[in-house]
Amino acid sequence: MIIALITGLVISSSLFGIMQISSDSDSENDDDLLTDEIRANMKPAEILQAFKDGNQRFTEGNLRRRKFVKEVSATSEKQTPYAIVHSCIDSRVPVETIFDARIGEIFSTRLAGNVINSDVLGGMEFATSLSGAKLILVMGHTRCGAVKGAADSAEFGHLTALVNKIKVAEGEAKSSFNGDADPNNYAYVDHLAKEYVKLAINQIRKESPVLKELEEKEAILIAGGMYNIGTGKVDFFEV
Ligand SMILES: [Zn+2]
Repeated sequence: MIIALITGLVISSSLFGIMQISSDSDSENDDDLLTDEIRANMKPAEILQAFKDGNQRFTEGNLRRRKFVKEVSATSEKQTPYAIVHSCIDSRVPVETIFDARIGEIFSTRLAGNVINSDVLGGMEFATSLSGAKLILVMGHTRCGAVKGAADSAEFGHLTALVNKIKVAEGEAKSSFNGDADPNNYAYVDHLAKEYVKLAINQIRKESPVLKELEEKEAILIAGGMYNIGTGKVDFFEV
């Protein structure tokens, strides 16, 4: 009798557990999946705020529940990303993860040192003018190997040309840095990385009349960010 009672309790609690799980799944609605309508009603500044909120959830360990199956299904016919992020190839900078973003929310280009070239600009023009994204985020990060390579004047294969793109920011970085502008000083390397993001944003405006015009019409926002690989936090800034 006692055994039966205990067994019954176990079964009941198991069933309850299952019900709880299934109830949670059922209550998980699709309200926070990005749709055409939601994007149409968002201003560029609100999208930037969504990025700030997502990064805060990431640093606090308070991520939204993954719904990969629903996300894949919802985006199978069409995508409506609200932003494009241009960032570095660094393995410690997984863009969707650090912004707690779902599948279909972010266009992403990644090149070592987040350098800009005409192909990147083409991607940005596609993402915004043709596909409706309203935020361009150029994001550097701390302890960037490519930026350190630029500070070191590294020469190696195709990397020489790549780091030379970053070196263009060196003059401004050295003159505005308070301290030892030495390649072995990561405070300086991080400063150079940020200066390169600023330069890259101005390069976007200068080299892409399409994007410049969208920005002037306030149809898009072009913002800068620096991701701290030690804290997971992104510092956003305007240029
Ligand atoms: Zn990097």
